[in-house]
Amino acid sequence: MTDGSTDTPDPRRATPRTDAVLADPRLEQAVQRLGTDIVKDAVRRAQQQCRDGLISPEYVADTAYAALPAAATGMRRVLNATGIIVHTNLGRAPLSDAARLALEVAAGTTDVELDLATGRRGPRGAGAREALAAAVPEAGGVHVVNNGAAALALVACVLAQGREIVVARGELVEIGDGFRIPELLESVGARLREVGTTNRVRLEDYVAAIGDQTGFVLKVHPSNFRIEGFTSTVDVASLAQLDIPVVADIGSGLLRAHPRLPDEPDASTTLRAGATLVTASGDKLLGGPQCGLMLGDRALVERLRRHPFARALRVDKLTLAALEATLRGPRPPVAAALHASDATLQERAERLAAELGEVASVVRSGGAVGGGGAPGVTLDSWAVALPEQYAEPLRTGDPAVIGRVTGGQLLLDVLALADDDVELVVDAVRRCQ
Ligand SMILES: *Cc1c(COP(=O)(O)O)cnc(C)c1O
Repeated sequence: MTDGSTDTPDPRRATPRTDAVLADPRLEQAVQRLGTDIVKDAVRRAQQQCRDGLISPEYVADTAYAALPAAATGMRRVLNATGIIVHTNLGRAPLSDAARLALEVAAGTTDVELDLATGRRGPRGAGAREALAAAVPEAGGVHVVNNGAAALALVACVLAQGREIVVARGELVEIGDGFRIPELLESVGARLREVGTTNRVRLEDYVAAIGDQTGFVLKVHPSNFRIEGFTSTVDVASLAQLDIPVVADIGSGLLRAHPRLPDEPDASTTLRAGATLVTASGDKLLGGPQCGLMLGDRALVERLRRHPFARALRVDKLTLAALEATLRGPRPPVAAALHASDATLQERAERLAAELGEVASVVRSGGAVGGGGAPGVTLDSWAVALPEQYAEPLRTGDPAVIGRVTGGQLLLDVLALADDDVELVVDAVRRCQ
């Protein structure tokens, strides 16, 4: 695998030529998988290591091969040992195996908009909509858009352009990265009519604000903060008496009430309480792909779906396939984490620590749902503690492992880790030793 000039000790001469290295069958295959640029780049870096005398010429191909990324994307796999189940910076919900399989089917050409029985154009993403309607029978109609923010923008555009949205002052939420729900609503031409104060709002406040300019009343779930103390809010059931459409942004995408999250609103209960429309994210507690769910009054949903702006918020076939499989398939990882018993988590932490030896110890930990919901709720969990010096090499490895640094230790919380991830974390830690 060298250029034949092995009789010279000069590493520059001994470094194998690029085409010779690329002839390695593993690298030839990698070119098919990753493209020429990525593979050539890895070869160039390995050649440089050879010239620098760090590796010998016969290892150039091995070194290049070992340095190749898993896929042709700069995005790296991260093992989530933060204890935060829905971590915004880590791409929120990890998809279920069922959803990943569906993505493979959808990646090619599919019948997303073709009725194969008749050969005519079919309703786009009918499978996802049917699965959603089956999961929330209280909804007369369902529609899927790009994300939760898109769902809000669409309903504001259709029901309140040039009109008013009545909303409690304490529910004017900043969702993250500087984006604010009130500014989003105003950006499509709606005016906000704020009622109440930061901590308190009463039904009379809404009644006084509603008039011929009102498009709808909006109820926003404070999914990333909590106001405690002298507070009052008005529930959906009371607002539903006001004879004006009530839109409830429940945030997390919980479809039914969850015993571990008693304060988290869900679509079913909210619709039964009388909301005209519920909007939510598909990639928080529902555990699916990024998307926005709109569930509720059939005629309203049909209006939303047919509005010109809806076309700009349309989801692609990958999202539709992954959402349908999330709904139809077995419990996705987010739901599995929420259901995991204390004994399961302890066993997972003990298995991890046992493989890591002396350096690791099992400790009690507290996890969280994350930016996706249930602010202030601590979920009992277990973690493996390592010296803090492990944090950086684990974070920069491939796959990366992200834990929590606290009190001079690195905690690897097992709450958001899948069972299959444990071995990968073990390998990653060993590579740092
Ligand atoms: C997350 C969230 C949104 C935004 O949803 P995206 O899917 O991130 O666009 C809107 N409202 C609430 C209450 C949320 O929690």
